[in-house]
Amino acid sequence: MGDISMLAMGLAVLAAVVAVGIKAHKRRSSYGASEHELGPFQVTSFDAIDDTVRRTRCVCGGVLQLQSEASIRRDDRELRAARCHCAQCGDTMTLTFDLASLHH
Ligand SMILES: [Zn+2]
Repeated sequence: MGDISMLAMGLAVLAAVVAVGIKAHKRRSSYGASEHELGPFQVTSFDAIDDTVRRTRCVCGGVLQLQSEASIRRDDRELRAARCHCAQCGDTMTLTFDLASLHH
């Protein structure tokens, strides 16, 4: 009896994981790209960029790891784009930062 309830619990957990995976996949395809973007965040220092990346979590709850940073220009504003990937599911995410308050 004990073994059966353990097995049932295992199956329930597995079903939940699959359901979450399907939901994440649906959200991704409706977005139109495999890449998520967050921001622009208003920052006053480059340290704030690292802090924000550290605080932000993937949709799966995983920790983000910074891959590369680049300056981009959008709507006449200079933005800093931090490209990250999730340590847990490997999904990529770009965080953009508005550095306007850095240039006085
Ligand atoms: Zn993830």
